[in-house]
Amino acid sequence: AAGTGEKGSVTLAKTAILVTGVAGFIGFHVASALLARGETVVGIDIVNDYYDPELKHARLNQINDHPAFRFVKMDVAEAEAVKDLVLEAGITRIIHLAAQAGVRYSIENPFAYQRSNLQGHLSILEACRAVEGFEHLVYASSSSVYGDRPLAGDGFSEDDRVNEPVSLYAATKRSGELMSTTYSHLYGIPQSGLRFFTVYGPWGRPDMAYFSFSEKIMKGEAIEVYGEGHMHRDFTYIDDIVEGIIGVLDHPPAGGKNEIYNIGAHQPVGLMEMISTLETALGREANKIMRPMQPGDVTTTYADVSKLKAVTGYAPSTPLKDGLERFATWFKGYKGLN
Ligand code: NAD
Repeated sequence: AAGTGEKGSVTLAKTAILVTGVAGFIGFHVASALLARGETVVGIDIVNDYYDPELKHARLNQINDHPAFRFVKMDVAEAEAVKDLVLEAGITRIIHLAAQAGVRYSIENPFAYQRSNLQGHLSILEACRAVEGFEHLVYASSSSVYGDRPLAGDGFSEDDRVNEPVSLYAATKRSGELMSTTYSHLYGIPQSGLRFFTVYGPWGRPDMAYFSFSEKIMKGEAIEVYGEGHMHRDFTYIDDIVEGIIGVLDHPPAGGKNEIYNIGAHQPVGLMEMISTLETALGREANKIMRPMQPGDVTTTYADVSKLKAVTGYAPSTPLKDGLERFATWFKGYKGLN
């Protein structure tokens, strides 16, 4: 791991860490955890309105007063501005999470993905290239790069073929991985790409099923269950994700390489089981309307996490029941439903 200076059992680096997408679900949690272990964090986000910007501001309000945190409102696709900030702040480690997320939205709004995910990723790579002694870029990829595959075997492995993305979102995430491989090859930038598997938890994303279902269930509205309820997702609790990200940050690959890791729960759950667990957590029953698969959706996600485990000791530990209970408690508080 990079850095000098001991504080407790944690080795502190001398330099600030840049977190992109810091007003987002995962970025906010990562920044909070980094601050808690004594790091200095520079966070950027465009705070777009893909979902309620109030939620993004509310997340930022949780960390804005921290003396070791600095927020800069910035579009990650603005390459010159990003590079200037990185050089000015003395950044040598970046956690790049800013992106246009969402599979279904990419059908209607393809160019949002071009800007945030393709140009944005390239802009981060160019900033890394400009830093002398750059230490580590950790960036977000997605389980969606695996395409539509059946639930079989021991999970999707990083060595599996990933040539058939079924949404533009997935195609841009895979493109980011490829651009990263090229930049590692050309410039020896140490990088770790993390393929996240359906992350959920407090301060989560209103566009994701567990969250939008909760809103409808609490209002007594019907929920639309896509894929006739036959989908499986490897739901992964946010704290397990944050632990994995920070574990990876401390393990830059040797030789300036780009390593790809799955980061998931290794515990696929059927959509109907997720809904009944959510009903219990919320203490209300859902009125379900069955709907067919949506274009761009995949039937299954299932992470083989042995590679990440071998490198960082990653061991996701939160059962869906506990995670959804914690989400439900936060959700009711945030919505004033207590
Ligand atoms: P999120 O939408 O909550 O956070 C992304 C943040 O990036 C948002 O706050 C948004 O305003 C910001 N952003 C978008 N475009 C930007 C731009 N051009 N410049 C600056 N900021 C910009 O999503 P999240 O769930 O926190 O996801 C974080 C990362 O993880 C993303 O790269 C996403 O693709 C990836 N991911 C998430 C999941 C999941 O289940 N949550 C699964 C797979 C991959």
